[in-house]
Amino acid sequence: MGQITLNQVTKSFGDVQVIPPLDLEINEGEFVVFVGPSGCGKSTLLRLIAGLEDTTSGTISIDGKDATDLPPAKRRLAMVFQSYALYPHMSVRKNIAFPLKMAGMPQDQIAAKVDHAAAILNLADYIDRRPGQLSGGQRQRVAIGRAIVREPAAFLFDEPLSNLDASLRVNMRLEISELHNELETTMIYVTHDQVEAMTMADKIVVLQAGNIEQVGSPLELYHRPQNTFVAGFIGSPNMNLFTGDEAQKHGATTIGVRPEHMQVSKTEGQWKGRVGVAEHLGSDTFVHVHDTGLAEMVTVRISGDLDVRHNDTIFLSPDMDKLHRFDAQGLRIE
Ligand code: ADP
Ligand code: MG
Repeated sequence: MGQITLNQVTKSFGDVQVIPPLDLEINEGEFVVFVGPSGCGKSTLLRLIAGLEDTTSGTISIDGKDATDLPPAKRRLAMVFQSYALYPHMSVRKNIAFPLKMAGMPQDQIAAKVDHAAAILNLADYIDRRPGQLSGGQRQRVAIGRAIVREPAAFLFDEPLSNLDASLRVNMRLEISELHNELETTMIYVTHDQVEAMTMADKIVVLQAGNIEQVGSPLELYHRPQNTFVAGFIGSPNMNLFTGDEAQKHGATTIGVRPEHMQVSKTEGQWKGRVGVAEHLGSDTFVHVHDTGLAEMVTVRISGDLDVRHNDTIFLSPDMDKLHRFDAQGLRIE
């Protein structure tokens, strides 16, 4: 259960086509992340799958059946939003139970399902509280609980962690990954944050202006980005992209070097530059290098205890076997 196929799906709002013809296969039990910059069509795509928007053309099938014209309630998908959309006057228990009550399920069955969801989500101690008496993370768990009790074919998450502070986001990220391991239900997760995408996904779908730029596992995208957009988008800090003479030397229009794929020396190396800002994170240092003639700024990741200071002269040498080459269309050259 939870196999979803999009075939030549498009979506226009008025005259504006925000999703050009798009094909996508989501396998049973997969954790799929849609990632891309704000406005690229992630939410629209998720809402099309959920049935909250009508497709302009194309078909969507769920578990082998055409679902293109099915109303949301008949798709057996559960959506979790960034705004938790909880009922403020209801307890946690009642919030989680709500969809089952609406469906007319008998009380004792509802109670069993709510208790089970609350146990999975560590909400048992808060079951009689109201949303106003919960932290942001707990509220988000209640929203997820309300999705779990419906036993959907797939969970759809739209930027569910954006309202949480940074450390809580990391915790919730882990919790959702654990939930996926436990339930083994298909999850589609939308985020603009490539770190969330990399850490959570089995399969990442990179979107730009409604187009799928690449589909692959996190490490496939990291090691073999198919174009300069994916190259620059996936990986933190971002890959350095150089055009001009240096790229031509390598038979390319653009070359890409990740910050972690350069050797650094104070005395010799391929590219000479001047240290701008050095960001000391402890484990690593990110050094932003100017005056290389390659780009306005080159970022290199070095080990935390190397002593580099503002205005030091520095030499960078790329690991040649980890160089990425792209043609005039921005496509990867193998
Ligand atoms: P994302 O979730 O990636 O930030 P959206 O899917 O929300 O992007 O939006 C994609 C594009 O579609 C944007 O240009 C947005 O302005 C437009 N859009 C979304 N919903 C509507 C709507 N109901 N009417 C008109 N334009 C819309
Ligand atoms: Mg969105």
